[in-house]
Amino acid sequence: MVKKTKYIFVTGGVVSSLGKGITSASVGALLKARGLKVGMLKIDPYLNVDPGTMSPYQHGEVFVTEDGAETDLDLGHYERFLNENLNKSSNVTAGEIYDELIRRERKGEYLGKTVQVVPHLTDLIKAKIKKAGRNKDVAIVEIGGTVGDIEGLPFLEAIRQFKYETERKNILYMHISLVPYIKAADEIKTKPTQHSAIKLREIGIDPDIIICRTEKHLTSGQREKIALFCDVPKDAVIEEIDVGEGNIYKVPLLLHREKLDRLIFRHFSVLPRRQNLKKWETLVRKSEKFSQVLNIAVAGKYTFVRDAYKSIKEALFHATLATRVKVRVRYIDTEKRNLADQLNGVSGVIVPGGFGERGTRGKMKICALARKKEIPFLGICLGMQLSLVEMARAFGLKQADSQEFNPATPHPVIAFLPEQKKIENKGGTMRLGGFACKIIPGTKAAEAYGKSVVFERHRHRYEFNNDYREFFERNGVIFSGINPERNLVEIAELKNHPWFVAVQFHPEFKSRFFEPHPLFSAFVSAAKSRKTKAGRR
Ligand code: GLN
Repeated sequence: MVKKTKYIFVTGGVVSSLGKGITSASVGALLKARGLKVGMLKIDPYLNVDPGTMSPYQHGEVFVTEDGAETDLDLGHYERFLNENLNKSSNVTAGEIYDELIRRERKGEYLGKTVQVVPHLTDLIKAKIKKAGRNKDVAIVEIGGTVGDIEGLPFLEAIRQFKYETERKNILYMHISLVPYIKAADEIKTKPTQHSAIKLREIGIDPDIIICRTEKHLTSGQREKIALFCDVPKDAVIEEIDVGEGNIYKVPLLLHREKLDRLIFRHFSVLPRRQNLKKWETLVRKSEKFSQVLNIAVAGKYTFVRDAYKSIKEALFHATLATRVKVRVRYIDTEKRNLADQLNGVSGVIVPGGFGERGTRGKMKICALARKKEIPFLGICLGMQLSLVEMARAFGLKQADSQEFNPATPHPVIAFLPEQKKIENKGGTMRLGGFACKIIPGTKAAEAYGKSVVFERHRHRYEFNNDYREFFERNGVIFSGINPERNLVEIAELKNHPWFVAVQFHPEFKSRFFEPHPLFSAFVSAAKSRKTKAGRR
């Protein structure tokens, strides 16, 4: 342990989508690789209490932690890079903090005072930050949004004040900024970064490290200029070059090459520990060696929002490490026609989770095609529910449905659980977080997991209706995963199909770079065998 907890505050400048989450996660990974205990906190300045009620169009994927928090997708990066479970207190929003503030005010806790952003709101923010640092060597606190956003101001004020909670030398302000390449001038430009550092200093935060997101390498002269105008030493200007759609797991190695970890130790006046990045290097190399490239379809309705299926994409990437197959993801918009044509050249199909009826007909069509054409299939959450509705209809229950789409269906194969019927609020009222799942021996699930009990994460309101178990079993469905406490179906698979596995949970949330998820690996392996067979035909 270092003597006093250190805090790294990560802010972003110029534009959003700079990959602040990946950078923060990479810094966490680098420090962990040097034996430090790292805490992570993502602060989101929006007024939603959590992102659970936000559409993926607004926000991308909602990531679910083991303890059942609906969080920002950056927590997914943190977990994947640190190979650790985070929890409810690893993500806080402005909405959550205001909610707490107003509840306290109503209880009279402020004893007649005028309740204000400074100090009352900022005090609550600082308390959350301290909590993230409890029992840790370093806490990395990422502030969402861009410096200059109105909503972000109380948070920046809080991190400015935070230096008085400890000592300035225990605090590191890391600013991530864009250094854009201007094609017409064939040059990269440092001015936006200079301006965003100025903005930060106006607020009273002097950045210690500037991370430059760039498409082109920085020259020594450009580094000097940024250093001068942002008031940091030249070696505190760190280049973070685009890895594009490529391998984000290279980022810790790139930052290490820029000596970022050494710089952090120097700033904190802590002797650098020996770093152990061997595993990263080996895995990055391994992830770039594959014997085959396969097309896997992800068929959903949020296909044009890049971030909506982030964890699935990452899980497929991790699968390369287990299968030596590189996956090219083909997003299929299930509201389009000609779905069958879109499956041409595809070796496996994923129907992911989702909410609401729009796009479900197309998803069921995809489920039917995968079932009949023997294409390896992984149904996730809504994907499982729809695959079972589709089968029920095909097996004779023409009006079968999920109560989510038709509450009056005579055959609710997917149903609302009686104990959930009193729900009035939409936020945070689902079956959320990690639950046990008993795996039935001799099944594809058992083969994939090689374990008799697993824990997987959930986020849904509806469940498979046990009244229909026998009906499905008679028609060749095996229920291969069951939640032991409540006897709920967690996994269904098909007997006479090369690999058709549908799960009520979200395996993608537990796949890690260091530990690819067994279901994704088994699915990709099945897709590989199909491709190999097709080649031989
Ligand atoms: N809409 C479905 C439910 O609430 C599935 C949710 C999901 O796919 N995450 O049960």
